[in-house]
Amino acid sequence: MNRRLIIAVDGPAGAGKSSSSRLLAQRLGYRYVDTGALYRAVGLLALEQNVDPADCAAVEALCDRLELRFLPQPEGIRLFLGDRDITMAIRRPEVSQMASKVSAQPGVRQRLLSVQRELGRGGGVVMEGRDIGTVVFPDADVKFYLDASLEERGRRRYAELRAQEGAESLATTMREMAERDQRDSARAHAPLQRAADAIVVDTTALTLEEVVDTLLRWVRAVEARVDQDGGNRMA
Ligand code: C5P
Repeated sequence: MNRRLIIAVDGPAGAGKSSSSRLLAQRLGYRYVDTGALYRAVGLLALEQNVDPADCAAVEALCDRLELRFLPQPEGIRLFLGDRDITMAIRRPEVSQMASKVSAQPGVRQRLLSVQRELGRGGGVVMEGRDIGTVVFPDADVKFYLDASLEERGRRRYAELRAQEGAESLATTMREMAERDQRDSARAHAPLQRAADAIVVDTTALTLEEVVDTLLRWVRAVEARVDQDGGNRMA
């Protein structure tokens, strides 16, 4: 397989996108890009600077000053805003909500679009988010849409949050997650939706390993097709 693919992974919060995309990228020797982290960085700044998420001009100004870098470190990829490591700060529940609010602004999405396309340039990438297969890379080689029941997604997110400070109750985590899904799916610009040609994987009853194996099988099938198409063209 010579050509390095663009693999898009979309779906709602807690569907298992991050863990499975990271592992899939590792197995393929590809880059892993978490696009939610970009929206979270804007959300974090909006919270810290008391910016109203409905104020387009003010939120766009935050994006224009955004100096973000994903840096690989021995313990994994860390996200830096200037010299500040914001990897943990962007995971707080209030940042999740704010990220979802600022991400509804078309000006924000427009500004982050070029950043995401640049991060995927040349292929060899597993990129996860909400609109990767529909807007960022509509011609992605493989598109996955991961989903799971709200209960299971809530349980997974709650388990992650419990490991951090300021954990909320399971009921609050589920309510906030449902609110965020609703906002992400209902927004006018690049809403969360399944691309018509996406492969849907319901992860509710699957372990992480099973999800990764399923994704990998699909990717191998696409690689085989790409190789065959290439071979036919050469013949
Ligand atoms: O994926 P994650 O939960 O970290 O994303 C945080 C928020 O960022 C989402 O709820 C969504 O509002 C926004 N987002 C988006 N488009 C993406 C990735 C994330 O709108 N491609």
